[in-house]
Amino acid sequence: MANDNPDAPRQGFPTHGFQAEDPQVRSIGRRVLARERLTLDDAIALYRSSDILAIGWLANDVRERLHGNVTYFNVNRHINPTNVCVAACRLCAFGRKKDAPGAYTMALDQAFDTAASGYSEAVTEFHIVGGLHPDLPFNYYLDLISGLKTRFPQVHLKALTMVEIAFLAKRGKLSIEETLRQLKQAGLDSLPGGGAEIFNERVRRVICDHKIDGEQWLATARTAHNMGLKSNATMLYGHIENDEDRADHLIRLRTLQDETHGFQTFIPLAFHPANTPLQHLFPTTGFMDLKQIAISRLVLDNFPHIKAYWQMMSPKIAQISLRFGADDIDGTVIEEKIYHDAGATTPQGLRRSELERLIREAGRDPVERDTMYRPVVRTETSFTISV
Ligand code: SF4
Repeated sequence: MANDNPDAPRQGFPTHGFQAEDPQVRSIGRRVLARERLTLDDAIALYRSSDILAIGWLANDVRERLHGNVTYFNVNRHINPTNVCVAACRLCAFGRKKDAPGAYTMALDQAFDTAASGYSEAVTEFHIVGGLHPDLPFNYYLDLISGLKTRFPQVHLKALTMVEIAFLAKRGKLSIEETLRQLKQAGLDSLPGGGAEIFNERVRRVICDHKIDGEQWLATARTAHNMGLKSNATMLYGHIENDEDRADHLIRLRTLQDETHGFQTFIPLAFHPANTPLQHLFPTTGFMDLKQIAISRLVLDNFPHIKAYWQMMSPKIAQISLRFGADDIDGTVIEEKIYHDAGATTPQGLRRSELERLIREAGRDPVERDTMYRPVVRTETSFTISV
C-alpha cells in the first residue's frame, strides 16, 4: 500500500492518505497529487483497473481542490422541437422518419406553449435539442430562438448540438460561422455539446454513421468557442467502444480545450440500449458509471466542471458521483424525452427540493447556478444572478 500526500491539507477537509491496490493506479496517483497531467496511456490504465476506490479518491481530491464542497444544479426545462431525423443512428431511440408512428414536429406556437407550460420565474435555462429534420427551414430555428428570447428574456437559451449546427449549415448552404452568427443574433446563448458520442471513426460507423465525424464535431465547437459561445461536451459510453476509444475521446477534448477554453462542463452519458437497434447490448453498470465520472475528472484537467447527469445514470448513482469527481448534478429538467424513449426508468423531472436533498445527503452544499455557473440568489418573489 502506498501512502502519498504531497499536497498540504486544505482547510475544512479531512486529510486522508491515498491508498491504491493497483500499482499502476498508485503511480498515476502520485502524479495526480503532484498536479501532473495524465497521458493517453494513463487514461487507458485507469479504465483497465478495477481499483475504483483509489481512482474515486483521486478524482474526489481534484474535485474538492477545484470546488470545495459545492455541488451545482440548475432549474431548467428541456424542449425537443422535433424527433423527425434523417440520420437513423443505431444508438438512438428518439429519432423517427417523417411519416413513422410517433413522429412529431412542433409548430412554433406549440414550442412556445411547451416552454410556457410549467414555466415559473424559477426557470433559468431552456435546453433545446432535436432531430435533423429534412424539411424544416433554417428560419424555423431562427424564429424559435428569437421567439423564446422575446417571450422569456431572462431565460438562457442553450440550444442545438454541434451535429444540428453542422446539418443546418449544410442545408442552408452557409458556413458554420455564418450559421452560428445568425443564431446568436436571434438570441442563442450557448451550446449543449451533444452528438459527440465517441470520436473514433470505427465506432461512429456502427453507432451513428450519418452524423458528422469526430473532427467535424470538434471543428464546429472550435468555431463556436472562437465566436464567444460557450459549450459543454459529451461522450456516450457503454456500447461498442473500448478503453482506448474512451481515452482518445477525452484527450481530443482536452486538446481543443487547451486551445479555446470554451468548454464549461463535460457530461459522460451512459448508453441506454432499450428500443434502439443495439438493444442486445447490456446497459452500463454502477461500477462503470462511477469510474467514468472519476476518470473524466482526472484526465480533463482543464475542464472546470464534470456533470453527473442524473437522467442517464439515475439519481442514486449521480448522488454517489458527487464523491467520485462530479461537482454538478444537472437540473430539474421537467420533461425529458430522449433517454426515456430509450427506456430510462428515471423520473421525467426532479423538484428543486429533491435535487437539494440528494446533494445534502452526500455531504455537499447545493448551489443553484445559471448556465454560466453564476450563483442564483432567490427571494420568495424574485431571483438575481450574482455576477
Ligand atoms: S441521435 Fe440525433 S442525429 Fe442520431 S438519429 Fe437520434 S436524433 Fe437523429
